Amino acid sequence: MTREETLKLVPDRVRHFINGQFVDSGPEWFEDFDPATHETLTKIASGDATIVEQAAQAAQQAFVQVWRDMPGRERARYLERIADGMVRDRVALASLETLDTGIPLKQTLGQIERAADNFRFFADMATRLTGESFPNPPHFQNYAVRQPIGTAGLITPWNTPLMLETWKIAPCLASGDTAVLKPAEWSPITADRLAHIIQEADLPPGVFNVVHGLGESAGAALVAHPAIPLISFTGETTTGQEIMRNGASQLKRFSMELGGKSPVMVFDDADFERAVDATLFGMFTLNGERCTAGSRVLVQDSVADRFEDALKSRIANIVVGDPFDLNTELGPLIHQDHWQRVKSYIDLAPSEGFRVAVGGERPSAFPRGNYLQATLLTGVTPGMRVAQEEIFGPVLAMLRFGDEEEAIRMANGVRYGLAAYVWTRDVSRANRVSQALEAGMVWLNSQNVRDLRTPFGGSKWSGIGREGGSHSFEFYTEWKTVHMALGTHPIPRVGHSG
Ligand code: NAD
Repeated sequence: MTREETLKLVPDRVRHFINGQFVDSGPEWFEDFDPATHETLTKIASGDATIVEQAAQAAQQAFVQVWRDMPGRERARYLERIADGMVRDRVALASLETLDTGIPLKQTLGQIERAADNFRFFADMATRLTGESFPNPPHFQNYAVRQPIGTAGLITPWNTPLMLETWKIAPCLASGDTAVLKPAEWSPITADRLAHIIQEADLPPGVFNVVHGLGESAGAALVAHPAIPLISFTGETTTGQEIMRNGASQLKRFSMELGGKSPVMVFDDADFERAVDATLFGMFTLNGERCTAGSRVLVQDSVADRFEDALKSRIANIVVGDPFDLNTELGPLIHQDHWQRVKSYIDLAPSEGFRVAVGGERPSAFPRGNYLQATLLTGVTPGMRVAQEEIFGPVLAMLRFGDEEEAIRMANGVRYGLAAYVWTRDVSRANRVSQALEAGMVWLNSQNVRDLRTPFGGSKWSGIGREGGSHSFEFYTEWKTVHMALGTHPIPRVGHSG
């Protein structure tokens, strides 16, 4: 779809979706901007505690009256129908995602397929939710069951919004919980389109609700609401900290998927070309706005000059442009404020002492919009801010190491611990290094290829808990153990001495 065709799909107003209906919340609306032009795309309803109350009530009612006790197989059918709707609307969804986020259309098309797959995957899992049995003859047969908990507040970020939303909605609904989604304020359009798809799939009203709004109002009200015991959050580490503080007094259960500063470690025996390809793919697709981006490439001294030369020539070739152009590899960043933030890191070069080897500027062909050249920083050392802090844009920092020990020290020497990528042909080293890395996920000689069954999440400041496969059910369900006596086991008698 072209930009013009996509603009026609954007609703005049984006409303909340509560109890199966699209509703306004009052006079407060905020603007949603096109990253490529800064023009207003639409106005979004700005939710507050009142609308969160309505959504929470609807979700609670649906939980008790319909969803909690529905057999998994029936819930799965709804999820399949949602996936079918997404596949049917695939081009519209991808085009809207591109319009709202600036991520190149070629990439959002793939993302939507994956988002639909999240529903199919968890539909399948819903039919296979099992408990555990603990025979204890002759007196007991104990068992444990997983039970849905209630309503989950799902709070999501602006990067790859639909993918990340479905990653939470699908397991939440599959578990038998109901949901109130609070999409990110910078990219809420596809969440609205998804709500329409879900309405058409005839999901019982109240099972899935969307409250739009700002983090500090709508998001905070969700965290504060007593009828929402679960909060699954993806976003910045500092926001996660604030949310945990706010939910602590009610002992909410949190899943926290937070920031990253993931290393790509390239040893001198690596498959050089594949390591270069994967480094570039992992850093510069999705506009560099990827939580698991390998944003620090650590290269062994003996191959570092060659690797740097390869990166320089390839990065200078990355096609920055209109995200609707299928040749574009890097589109405009999400928002002007974010552009400024990313640029401010590049501008640290004189004070920190690194070099901007490639890029670093607005491309001259794009005087407006949030366009930024693909950027390589060289001469970076581990203590610099650009080696420590998440930039979350198309900016790759290159560091050099002498031996394995130094590489591990550098890789682990940040607060974050989300992902790590290791390139070496030495199988013992690959496994040794992955054991030593402080990261939730390690890819060996591989780009970031996901397996939905595996635990996804980060260590240290990158998160708490894991989602994915059965691990999602650990979050969305509560274990209940039932101890069942089979006969007349001995019961010590108290108060029987007289
Ligand atoms: P953000 O933390 O600014 O916002 C995320 C969401 O939280 C938004 O919906 C926002 O409205 C809401 N929010 C903000 N303040 C809140 C509050 N006080 N109470 C409740 N909700 C509040 O993050 P962002 O800038 O949208 O996203 C980028 C960040 O997300 C990066 O740090 C990135 O690494 C991280 N991320 C992590 C993963 C992961 O799986 N670990 C995946 C994607 C993105």
